Amino acid sequence: MTRICAFATMSVLTVSLSGAVSASASATSATGNRASVGTHQGALDSKKVDSKAIYERIVKKLPADWQARRDAARARVGIEQSPVTTILRTKLTKAYAAKGVSAQTIDPSDYECGPTKLDGYVDKLLEPVDTFNLLFIQLLGGLDIPTYDAILNGTPKGAGFQLLPEYKAPLTNTFGTAQRFWDVRLNNVQLMAMHGGMLTDVNRVTSVVQFMYGVGPADAVDIAKDLITMVQSDPALNNGDNPIFTLNAFAFSGEGDPDPVVRKLKDKMVFGDGILDALKSIGLNKVGPKAVLSHEMSHHVQYEDNLFDSPLTGAEATRRTELMADAFGTYFATHKKGLGMKPVQILKVEESFYDVGDCSFDSPGHHGTPNQRRAASSWGAATVAFSNNPNKVMPSMRLAKKFDKVLPELVKPDAPTSINAYRHLVAQP
Ligand SMILES: [Zn+2]
Repeated sequence: MTRICAFATMSVLTVSLSGAVSASASATSATGNRASVGTHQGALDSKKVDSKAIYERIVKKLPADWQARRDAARARVGIEQSPVTTILRTKLTKAYAAKGVSAQTIDPSDYECGPTKLDGYVDKLLEPVDTFNLLFIQLLGGLDIPTYDAILNGTPKGAGFQLLPEYKAPLTNTFGTAQRFWDVRLNNVQLMAMHGGMLTDVNRVTSVVQFMYGVGPADAVDIAKDLITMVQSDPALNNGDNPIFTLNAFAFSGEGDPDPVVRKLKDKMVFGDGILDALKSIGLNKVGPKAVLSHEMSHHVQYEDNLFDSPLTGAEATRRTELMADAFGTYFATHKKGLGMKPVQILKVEESFYDVGDCSFDSPGHHGTPNQRRAASSWGAATVAFSNNPNKVMPSMRLAKKFDKVLPELVKPDAPTSINAYRHLVAQP
């Protein structure tokens, strides 16, 4: 089965906002000023771009069931929702409301996770962006394009997938340490970056369009060119280099997937420029990327150990594997054979998990809360701190067993979040 565990992704936005398209179209004709919404001053002033017209042209080229295809392509590689989706949706909803457009498909209860520091960050990102143009881009799956590109075509040595110089050494070193730390095979996992700048590369966008929609090569090229025009029409999108397109880090594994195309894809850990920029801007530049990496590598440990199977289902199952990744990630970050972080840095690790969110956390239902994440993280740190043999790394399966045993404690509403509070639980054999 394909697994992708994202720290943050905006994909499901599309589904929820699809009802707003016709609404935006009618609102546009009512005011008659579509052009003023869809264009910006600056370099492109002479080249007026009508996003809606381009959108319609693209849709004409797509098969009738294009929305189903777009969603099926996501499911095929496992791209899923996260709190960032929610944040962006909230912003777009507000933007519509300001323009007199209601998007009733959006459930206000989805917003209970905010506001985090990331929320403010996304807010700032979106402020200068042409909302309608972005809406059309994301309806067409445009926000997922760098993610697909990395999953389908990314290689650690590929020119388009190199980590930015500033992150190359710390991430590569942490990655290597994590590969050696755990007792499962992780040397097949590929570490790479994704850059939004690929959104102006016709060949790369074409390749993703073909995967998403199964259209012929000629149509795919036309659609890709139109998408690129939309991205380039808004200077705020910075030729794709806006963090909006890469606000994501994820662990991917297609191992054992029944789909032969997906099955042959390499296991990956991908860092978007956007998520790194977000961590920096919320004051987690040093520890944040390492914390995300520690968490994501824990998902690869879970893939290898088959730890996704449990009696739990739905959101409770997700919460279990996510809290486990927090616990494992913190165990690795704390352990002297791992990153050997000090308690003050561990707090930053917890803050990274909390502020940036991940997978389906804090969405409606029974997902993990910030408190539960802190508790899981502290349990991971306590397992190191109160170990009888601090030089020994616990076998991952044993750590998982211990975690499953303590999980009911971690998810209690009044679960303590200090490392010391878990001393007595760790001491148990
Ligand atoms: Zn995760």
